[in-house]
Amino acid sequence: MSAEVYRTTRPGLLGAANVGETVQVAGWIQTRRDHGGIVFVDLRDSTGILQVVLDPEAASAPAAVLSGLRREYVISVTGAVAARGPEQVNPDLATGEIELVATELRVLSPSDPLPFQLDGRVDVDEALRLEYRYLDLRRPAMAANLQARSNAIRAMRRVLDGRGFLEVETPTLVASTPEGARDVLVPSRLRPGRFYALPQSPQLFKQLLMISGVDRYYQIARCYRDEDFRADRQIEFTQLDLEGAFWGQDEVLEVLEEVAVAVTRDLRGLELARPFPRLTWQEAMDRFGTDKPDIRFGMEIQDLSALFAATGFKAFAEVLAGGGTVRGINAGAQGLSRAGLDGLVERALALGAKGLVWMVVEEDGSLRSPVAKFLSDDEQAALGAALRVSPGDLLLVVADRFQVVAKVLGALRLDMGQPEGHDEIAFVMVTDFPMFEVGEDGSLTSMHHPFTSPEDVTEMAESPGTAASLAYDVVLNGAELGSGSVRIHNPEVQAKVFEVLGITEEDASRRFGWFMDALRYGTPPHAGFAYGIDRMVSILQDQPNIREVIPFPKTQTGADPLTGSPSRVEKEQLGELGIEIAPAVLAIWAEEESPT
Ligand code: ASP
Repeated sequence: MSAEVYRTTRPGLLGAANVGETVQVAGWIQTRRDHGGIVFVDLRDSTGILQVVLDPEAASAPAAVLSGLRREYVISVTGAVAARGPEQVNPDLATGEIELVATELRVLSPSDPLPFQLDGRVDVDEALRLEYRYLDLRRPAMAANLQARSNAIRAMRRVLDGRGFLEVETPTLVASTPEGARDVLVPSRLRPGRFYALPQSPQLFKQLLMISGVDRYYQIARCYRDEDFRADRQIEFTQLDLEGAFWGQDEVLEVLEEVAVAVTRDLRGLELARPFPRLTWQEAMDRFGTDKPDIRFGMEIQDLSALFAATGFKAFAEVLAGGGTVRGINAGAQGLSRAGLDGLVERALALGAKGLVWMVVEEDGSLRSPVAKFLSDDEQAALGAALRVSPGDLLLVVADRFQVVAKVLGALRLDMGQPEGHDEIAFVMVTDFPMFEVGEDGSLTSMHHPFTSPEDVTEMAESPGTAASLAYDVVLNGAELGSGSVRIHNPEVQAKVFEVLGITEEDASRRFGWFMDALRYGTPPHAGFAYGIDRMVSILQDQPNIREVIPFPKTQTGADPLTGSPSRVEKEQLGELGIEIAPAVLAIWAEEESPT
C-alpha cells in the first residue's frame, strides 16, 4: 500500500492565485458553522486559516459525519480553490478572498470537548493553560511566540556562526557553579550521598574552553537557579552563553550589539542605531537610580545636595551632615489628589525611605508642599531651576544614604513615568560595575561572580568596597538582559579575589581547586557574556512575563500542572540513592492526604 497522503499544500499558503486548483489540506477545525446542512469550517494549521465549504451533496462525506465535526478535530480535505463572492470576502483573513469547496473529507482524529476556548477572546486561567499547554500553544498568539523564539535563536546563531564561533555543549550534571543563587541538586545513585548540581551557568566550563584553545565559544545553554519565581524568572531558563579568547570588553560589547540588532530586526523588523548608549554603573545609578535603567523616558534624578548645603531645613541638613545626599525628580504634571500624594509617601516608606518630600509647582511658580515653609526663597528658586519646573509639575525629593535615595527615586520614576504600550526598543550597555556588593554587616559578595576581573588589583585589595570591576550588563527597556565580564586569567589574582571574598584557601581549593589548577597551564586573557533568551524574546514580543515565550514553563510555585512535576518518587528509588524523607516532611504529606 502506498503511503497515505494527508496534504498537498497548507491552508495559509493559498490565495487568489490558486483559484481553480484542486488541492488537499489538513489541519484543525478552528470553528464550524452549520448553514442548513452545508457546513463551513475554518481550517487551521501553523501557516494560517482557510475557510472550507462542506456540502454533503458534493463532499464524499455523509451529512452525519459533517454534523459530527467539532472544534479541534483533525481533518484532511480535498477540494477546489474557489473565489468568494464580493460580499463574502473576509478582509481580516489572509486567505479571505478564497475558500475551499470540498469534494472529499477524512476525519483523521477527533477531539474531546475543549477545557477552554482557543480563540483568545476569553481570559483563561494560567494554571489551566499550563495544564493543557499543548492546546494553549495552538493559539495563534502562542504559536507566534514559539516562532519568535526560534527566529531569535536562529538570528543569534547566524551572527555568531558568521563570526567563526564554535558551538560547544557543556555538561548539565556538574559541581556547583557560583552564580550566587541556590543550586538545583541531583542525587547520585552510583555514589550515594553525593550530589550533582545543575549548572547555574556554564561559566567555568566556558573558561576551561578558553584554556583548551577554543577561540570563540557559544552555546544555547539551559541554566538552573533555585530562586524565588517572578514574572521574569524561572527555575530553568535559557541563555545565549558566549566567550572569547584575547578579548576585551569593547570586542564583547560589539558582538553583543550585533546579536541584539539581528534579533530585533528579525523579531520587530526594526533597524537599531549603533552604537548603543553606554552608561557606567555610577552614571546609571545617579541618573536613573538603578543599574537597569529604562531610558525610554527622561524624568532623570538630579543631585540637589549642593543646593541645600546651607539649608535650615533640618531633615535635609542632618542627612547631608551625615554624608547622605538629597536628590529629586520632576515627575511632571501628575494632577494627583492629596490621597494620591499620600499614597506616594506610603510607597516611598515601603521602599525604605524615611520620608518623601513632595512639592507641586503653582501657577505663579511658588511651591505647594508641607515643607515649603522650611525652604528659603533662594532654595525654592534654585530647586525650580535644577528640576526645570513648569506650573503643575510634581517634584519628589528624598534625603538619605545614596543607596536608599537611588532605590526610592528609581522606583518612583518608573511608577510615574514608565511608558506603556509604545513600541520603542531601548538597549543600553552598563559598564564598570562595582567589584563587590557590601552587605549591611560589611560582608562582601561578588556583584557579578568571583571570576570577574577587577579594574585594578591593588585598588581591589586596598578598598574592595568601592573597587570597580570589568563587568558589564545589557539592559533593554529597563530589564537586565544579561551580564558578562572580562575574566581573571591570572591564578594569583583569582586567589586574591577569593581571599577578599573571605573564601579560605582551603575552601577555595576544595571547591575550585580544579579550576585554579587549570588557570596555571597557560590561560589566554578572555571575556564573555550571557544573554537571557527568555527575557529578550518576551520583551521583543511585548509579553508581560517570560512564561509566555517558554514552551513548557513552571508556575510561580515551581510546579508543572501538565506533568505534575515536581513529584514524589518511590521509596525504592530513594533507597537506591540513600535518601530518606525527613519525618517533618512525611508529616506534611500525611496532612495533605488526610480527608478534610
Ligand atoms: N555566567 C554569567 C551569568 O550567567 C555570564 C557571564 O559572565 O558570562 O550571568
